[in-house]
Amino acid sequence: MQRVAFLGLGAIGAPMARHVAEHFDLAVWNRTAAKAGEFAAATGARAAGTPADAARGAVVVITCLPTSREVAALLDGPEGLLAGLAPGALFVDCTSGDPATSRRIAERLAAAQVEFVDAPVSGGVAGAERGALTVMCGGSAAAVGRARPVLAAFGERIVHCGGVGAGHAVKAVNNALLAVHVWSTAEGLATLAKAGVSATTALEVINASSGRSNASMNLFPERVVTRAFPRTFRLSLLDKDAAIAADLARDTRTPAPILQLAADLFRAANVTLGDGADHVEAVKLVEAWAGIEIR
Ligand code: NDP
Repeated sequence: MQRVAFLGLGAIGAPMARHVAEHFDLAVWNRTAAKAGEFAAATGARAAGTPADAARGAVVVITCLPTSREVAALLDGPEGLLAGLAPGALFVDCTSGDPATSRRIAERLAAAQVEFVDAPVSGGVAGAERGALTVMCGGSAAAVGRARPVLAAFGERIVHCGGVGAGHAVKAVNNALLAVHVWSTAEGLATLAKAGVSATTALEVINASSGRSNASMNLFPERVVTRAFPRTFRLSLLDKDAAIAADLARDTRTPAPILQLAADLFRAANVTLGDGADHVEAVKLVEAWAGIEIR
């Protein structure tokens, strides 16, 4: 069996890695070592003591960390990934990262004869558990082709989007659209609540009409109207994604006032609600400003 390493057993990384363990000889590393130990005990994977130790002997090394900053920080030092990666290995970053940092990481890896593919995912924790994620890839066709068999362990749809950074660019824009939909749906439902229409009634109409979105069809009925707000995807991560999309629009000189505004609003929500909040809890800021709950 091919040896694979997976670094970052967070909310989405752990279920992704579980699928990899079913098909490959897997080594895992996590900053909080206890999580790697528990994962290894449950799956038969090997818990590595350091990033270098995880990468040693691996044909494919996968990272799934909060941002590209943490990925870049894992490369260096005597226990860093570059100390363990062998020439010819493939580095696949499933973080929702930023294209510019990924291009810099890819250059550094190329100097060590290691190819890089950015491969962020969508489909949430539930999609990761089902092994049914969408994976958007950036890199050479050859490198993406090499990554495919491993990505297929947790990915149902694997799309080659372009060169290094293209996967991260698509992911950032997708999530900026999620942010826009969450925020604008909350504004619409708060307005209707003040006009005397309940959220349940409003969603019955909107979800059979042209204003619907994944937010209105799934997130609002299951998480907002119920006030359940499960914590599956941290608000700080969506704040980060919306900011990457806004930066990308600026870097490419694309007029995108709604993307810029979404980034500002989600930054405000993140600062107000704190690091523990889920992304859907951003609607609480809309509710606070409107003085009404969406029910
Ligand atoms: P979590 O916050 O649940 O997990 C983050 C992981 O990164 C943990 O393993 C954590 O280790 C590790 N980590 C954090 N900081 C560092 C650091 N400085 N050095 C090394 N490791 C570190 O995040 P998710 O799993 O939810 O998200 C991971 C990536 O996937 C993000 O880019 C996110 O945007 C993206 N994503 C998440 C989705 C979701 O639904 N959750 C959906 C799609 C994409 P420790 O255990 O020690 O804290």
